[in-house]
Amino acid sequence: MSEHTYDLIVIGGGPGGYVAAIRAAQLGLNVACVEKETAMGGTCLRVGCIPSKSLLESSHHFEHARRHFSDHGINVGEVEVDLPAMLKRKERIVAGLAAGINGLLKKNKIARLNGTGRLVGEGKVVVANADGETELSGKHIIIATGSRSAPLRGVKLDGDLVGTSTEALSFPDVPEHLVVIGAGIIGLELGSVWLRLGAKVTVLEYLDRILPGIDSEIATEAKKIFEKQGFEFRLGAKVTAAAAKDGVCVVEAEDMSPITCDRVLLAVGRIPNTEGLGVEEVGIELDGRGRVIVDGSFRTNAPGIYAIGDVIPGPMLAHKAEEDGVACVEGIVTGHGHVDYNLVPGVCYTNPEIGAVGQTEEELQDSGVDYRKGVFHFRANGRAHSIGSPDGKVKVLADAKTDRVLGVHVIGPHGGDLIAEAAAGMAFGASSEDLARLCHAHPTLAEALKEAALAVDGRAIHA
Ligand code: FAD
Ligand code: AMP
Repeated sequence: MSEHTYDLIVIGGGPGGYVAAIRAAQLGLNVACVEKETAMGGTCLRVGCIPSKSLLESSHHFEHARRHFSDHGINVGEVEVDLPAMLKRKERIVAGLAAGINGLLKKNKIARLNGTGRLVGEGKVVVANADGETELSGKHIIIATGSRSAPLRGVKLDGDLVGTSTEALSFPDVPEHLVVIGAGIIGLELGSVWLRLGAKVTVLEYLDRILPGIDSEIATEAKKIFEKQGFEFRLGAKVTAAAAKDGVCVVEAEDMSPITCDRVLLAVGRIPNTEGLGVEEVGIELDGRGRVIVDGSFRTNAPGIYAIGDVIPGPMLAHKAEEDGVACVEGIVTGHGHVDYNLVPGVCYTNPEIGAVGQTEEELQDSGVDYRKGVFHFRANGRAHSIGSPDGKVKVLADAKTDRVLGVHVIGPHGGDLIAEAAAGMAFGASSEDLARLCHAHPTLAEALKEAALAVDGRAIHA
């Protein structure tokens, strides 16, 4: 066993880990980043954000060519999917971006160690790979091991017909009938991909609504729009079993006849990766959901060991993991580092997109906050019509007394981009009056945000 010494050892090369490593190198630390997969980028780049958005884009083009080109007076005849080419494009994008991260690590002189990291004591990490074990010493250690798909009792994952999001990013052919278990963001994004490519998609959801965590008025609107697109939802469906036999899948749920289909996507959430990491050995405390408990500076209870990203509580999002990484490292080096989780935007990349920042209406009601609400529909926005996407709305929630914006929720074209303005405003303490008085270019989708802000005070112009 050979020994190497660093100022900082980061375990995990996802958006939390590699960003933390780069920021630490910028601040002058001697850094190692340990990643067990051969490609850097974590869940997000390898089997998450990027491949899913690549397929969403490709399938959107197919859907558009097939159903909407003729609205623009463009006739293309029969349109066909070349699935191998579509999957190759996705793989090219992922490989290109992974190479980019390698380049960034090199540029920042970060030691990239390929292997599984394990905590073995204060300031000690052992990296195991096919060549054996290497012991590293680090003044500081950051756990950035991320998360994986949550299993569900009774669902027999076989890495093929009954799979998780990872399999659903690479189906070798378009399923005839895909059953999605769980109507969360991942299930609906990947369900959208295969629905657009021609599959029948049935979504089984335990709750009586889709998209838990998203403002319920927006989720209700989303369900209506998705149903028009062809999604079949069965709410209140508690899945108890799913398995494949002789190439056929059967899914069972309480109080429901079994469903026969050709593929199943299990998407009931994600769980933190702490198995085999040595957290017990170094005495790191986990919460009831297996997440590493940290304080406001990302410190675990073990001296010199920090944790960030999906492995700790908070939204399981790539940009949140990145912010955690930067704040954690800045905290270590400068003594200051902070992430405002209330201002972490959330986006569901369906069509239309759903974007949100701040509190939902239910959260405000539950906490007894007196608020005013302004809503503006994209059907009254000229640009939404020009691009053929008039479905959806923007909702601005503002404090009734101070008018400070507390939450902005969008379902509509480019909803994920539109909330960036709201997030910036909220970060600077904007009132709805501030958003309403900003001059927005015409014709843009962002005018709908201005109008929703005006609507808080009952003065939307185009409503
Ligand atoms: P991860 O990205 O999970 O990275 C952790 C890394 O640690 C992995 O590479 C893993 O191999 C490595 N690792 C684990 N244990 C060890 C060990 N012991 N030793 C060495 N290495 C180890 N988020 C968004 O913000 N936007 C999206 O559009 C989005 N889409 C998604 C779509 C899908 C299908 C999925 C599954 C997720 C999506 N997410 C999205 C969530 C996003 O991927 C995660 O929030 C993000 O990747 C978390 O970053 P992380 O660095 O904490 O962990
Ligand atoms: P998310 O956590 O956003 O990924 O969403 C996962 C979804 O799966 C949630 O809406 C859960 O209610 C749902 N879910 C969890 N368990 C089951 C189950 N047994 N059957 C159907 N849906 C489930």
